[in-house]
Amino acid sequence: MRPEILNPLFGETQSLKGVGKALAKPLEKLRLTRVKDLLYHKPSYWMHRKRVQELDEADVGLTIIAEVTPADYRSGGPRSPFRVQATDAQGNYISLTFFGRNTGWPRKLLPLGESKIISGKLERYGDELQMLHPDVLELAEEKDIALVEPIYPLSDGLGNKRMGQLVKQAVDMAPQLTEWIEPSLLESKKWESWRKSVDSLHSQEAAENADRLAYDEIFANQLAFMLVRASNRRKKGVSIQGDGHLRDQINLPFELTGAQKRCISEIEGDLAQSSPMLRLLQGDVGSGKTLVALMALLSAVEAGYQGAFLAPTEILARQHFEGLQKLLTGLPVNLAILTGRDKGKIRESTLMGLANGTIDILVGTHAIFQDKVQYKKLAVAVIDEQHKFGVSQRLMLTQKAENTPHLLAMTATPIPRTLTLSQYGEMDVSRIDELPPGRQAIETRVISDARLPEVVDGLGRHIASGGQAYWVCPLVEESEKSDLAAAEERAASLKLRFGNQVGLVHGRMKGPEKDAVMEKFQCGETKLLVATTVIEVGVDVPNASLMIIEAADRFGLAQLHQLRGRVGRGDVKSNCLLLRGDTLSETARARLSLLRETNDGFKIAEEDLRLRGAGELLGTRQSGDAGFRIATPDQISQLISAATDDARLLLDRDGGLNSERGQAARIALYLFERDWGVSLIRSG
Ligand code: ADP
Ligand code: MG
Repeated sequence: MRPEILNPLFGETQSLKGVGKALAKPLEKLRLTRVKDLLYHKPSYWMHRKRVQELDEADVGLTIIAEVTPADYRSGGPRSPFRVQATDAQGNYISLTFFGRNTGWPRKLLPLGESKIISGKLERYGDELQMLHPDVLELAEEKDIALVEPIYPLSDGLGNKRMGQLVKQAVDMAPQLTEWIEPSLLESKKWESWRKSVDSLHSQEAAENADRLAYDEIFANQLAFMLVRASNRRKKGVSIQGDGHLRDQINLPFELTGAQKRCISEIEGDLAQSSPMLRLLQGDVGSGKTLVALMALLSAVEAGYQGAFLAPTEILARQHFEGLQKLLTGLPVNLAILTGRDKGKIRESTLMGLANGTIDILVGTHAIFQDKVQYKKLAVAVIDEQHKFGVSQRLMLTQKAENTPHLLAMTATPIPRTLTLSQYGEMDVSRIDELPPGRQAIETRVISDARLPEVVDGLGRHIASGGQAYWVCPLVEESEKSDLAAAEERAASLKLRFGNQVGLVHGRMKGPEKDAVMEKFQCGETKLLVATTVIEVGVDVPNASLMIIEAADRFGLAQLHQLRGRVGRGDVKSNCLLLRGDTLSETARARLSLLRETNDGFKIAEEDLRLRGAGELLGTRQSGDAGFRIATPDQISQLISAATDDARLLLDRDGGLNSERGQAARIALYLFERDWGVSLIRSG
């Protein structure tokens, strides 16, 4: 249970003073639903205001505070703004300018002859100084204007002033917490206590203020992962040593790559242990992860056990089933498939086969790990495209049986090493860092979207010559709705030209509906698939050799790379066209040209991290996971090894987290919503 001291912080933001119904939506949109979320709502920048005694050209562009006296009104025609002419004590003029019909309001705000305090950005208008819509205060209220003020990420209907008040209420509710950071680290970094750091985050402009809080989050995250590791080590699994009689019979038309061989032997090493394997297999799209997984599954079968292979979607499950069936032709291995679609008799007989052990390997969607599904002796579980699942699903598996199966999670998301540790910290990692030989590189070009008509013509030729293509539509906003509108519009306009050959797939579609569209594309009935970014990871349509991505500059590099990986799967040369707007920043240019230069996903991921810099949060996790709210990728890179060491050390000394510091660390787990770690703490 959550420690009592944290309860106020987990109260709903709705319960704060001054929060009515109107704020519910903006608060939700900013993901500020709990009081603690406000504590961590980091200012996006700090506003500096300069108090001036005299209005001066030299301050144009700055936000100033000044005392002025209105001297005259000028209301122009119906289309021109209302202007209040005012002077400072030295007689310098400024025009306070108000747009809008209501001229009564500025008159009331600034009566002639009455001195007021104004604040706003000083501008030049012709040869006058001007301020648009100044903040206006009484002389006595000047002290209420801060010279330096945090400006928060905001949302419609929730302004900065109100946000500041809410944050302050939250900070006032924050208790003193016992320190969980290792004392020597705290000292060497010169960090303040948690309570003080929270306060400083909102009261002082210093980037380092956030470091300690970022560290806390990373530490809690790593500690939770270490707890999974420790609890896993205490579990009993089955030690597997296959004799190779099945693996040797697979008829491969090619040699395994060196990287595949290395990963296979790392996995074999794990399987031989009696504590269950927890391993992540990272490998770029097309690097041949499936085969590595098959070797692990066959090791289990050779030793008399069963294996399970989990895919994120129905269509991928079927694709894998068929692929594995081919590889296993002629081998005495009983392969079966189970998805949500299988009902009635077929399902019953599959369940029976699993329970009595006649099925050796089961492929399927999450249906294969439902409670009703009983395995006789499951020893190896593979999760394909792990990034489509959450941590929680991965953990559920390790929690299930008395004899926990060995777990192999696979992902094609090429993330930098440091980030891998922050997302998959409980696992050992194997990397396939080499593509099978002879792969044709995908030729990538960056093209101005002004040349869209040419692109469509080229697409026409591609389809006419029997090819298939993907067309990915831009991320218009965060809102799925407008993405969808854009995709629908594009699909409609392409249908005018290509008719029924165009399919559309998007995130709002239900599973079966989506599968139907994908299947039509897979079997070649449709030639062009228009999609929002939901194109299923891993779907293999070798005949699709052209990828067009609209407004490519709005995607992350790693994401572009993954999208591009949908093509280049057949024998023909593949192309990827990245359409870009005309006004591109230097960084955006650098990013896109990187994709043109390399097909190496890991290199792209490292660069992506570097180019994105400190500002952005990590968006790679799927919903349902806590992810990181405070720590930026930069901070994660810098702090993760210290945090991981610290967490490991703490558990070595105090595996039950009973000491004072251990208890404090438990609080950190709750505070950062890594509660799942708490249930794994060794008792006693
Ligand atoms: P991914 O890592 O994206 O899951 P797959 O396992 O689907 O990749 O493999 C992609 C393709 O590469 C498959 O057609 C597979 O048969 C082929 N492949 C795998 N390993 C090799 C290899 N060593 N040499 C040549 N082709 C290979
Ligand atoms: Mg795959």
